[in-house]
Amino acid sequence: MPMSALPSEADIFIAELDAAVEAHMNWTRRILRCAVLRTAPGEDVLAPMAHTLCHFGNWFMSSRAEFEALDAQAAQRVEAVHQAMHDAIRSICTRVLAGQPGNHADLETFEQSQSDLLALLARFKTLILTQAVRHDPLTGLPLRYGIENDFALCRKEARRACNLLYVAMIDMDHFKPVNDTHGHLVGDQVLRQLAGVLKQTLRSNEPLYRFGGEEFLWLLQCKSVAEAEQSAQRLLGAIRTTSVPVPGSVPLVLTVTLGLARVREQDDLSSAIMRADLALYEGKKNGRDRYVIADP
Ligand code: GH3
Ligand code: MG
Ligand code: MG
Repeated sequence: MPMSALPSEADIFIAELDAAVEAHMNWTRRILRCAVLRTAPGEDVLAPMAHTLCHFGNWFMSSRAEFEALDAQAAQRVEAVHQAMHDAIRSICTRVLAGQPGNHADLETFEQSQSDLLALLARFKTLILTQAVRHDPLTGLPLRYGIENDFALCRKEARRACNLLYVAMIDMDHFKPVNDTHGHLVGDQVLRQLAGVLKQTLRSNEPLYRFGGEEFLWLLQCKSVAEAEQSAQRLLGAIRTTSVPVPGSVPLVLTVTLGLARVREQDDLSSAIMRADLALYEGKKNGRDRYVIADP
């Protein structure tokens, strides 16, 4: 996922977006005063680079990466219409201050670009909110909404690269006693830390989701069964060597059990998940802190 759209970050981003839009509405009010009362509207209206001086322009440039990640084309449109709007307004105000009537075409450009800008920003707001609800607020991981889509993409990519594709279910071992002994807040902290280790250990092109409670789903591409086994082993090792500090108690040592299923021609996502689940149960039955690969 391009943007780490934690809901709290999304909240801040949306508040900033609203503030920037509000600032632009104030800017527009100043222009109306200039047109009606001939008052000087200020540098962020008359300067040749006015679009980089206004509050919105400044904020947009500093948040450019976030906009790009959400929709690169729309981000470019925002920049273009915002500049067009400033250019039209500069022309109008300059003429008005020189005692001439404003230009009709400039006014139309201003009206059109302003409405385009507001529509684009509304679209970004929707994109941010959509991203936010698709992510788990506790761990920051994507929830399962996009899995079908990502699975189809991974499958295509695996075919093209002659890779094997695995669906892996990761389930924390004996997690309920953690909640029962130390309380749900510590349980939450443990989940956050586990998710952090998983994210760090997996490669950036290996999608990971919070599938449910203390279960995570991982899509893994590799060249051979041996490579899948190595990756699973590496993950088990990384978690086993992580300790979670607990107030008033010795640090907790975590383990997980993994069930992996290689995606076969006849599989869809749900049949692969079902096989990974069966492998996981087998791993739990056989003592946990291990991986089991489902029979092909
Ligand atoms: P096993 O080794 O067999 O997987 O045992 P387990 O205790 O991990 O599994 P079980 O399914 O019995 O318990 C899972 C627990 O996860 C129960 C539930 O309260 C807890 N849990 C699920 N989601 C959350 C969460 O978001 N926060 C906290 N604190 N606990 C959660
Ligand atoms: Mg479970
Ligand atoms: Mg469990």
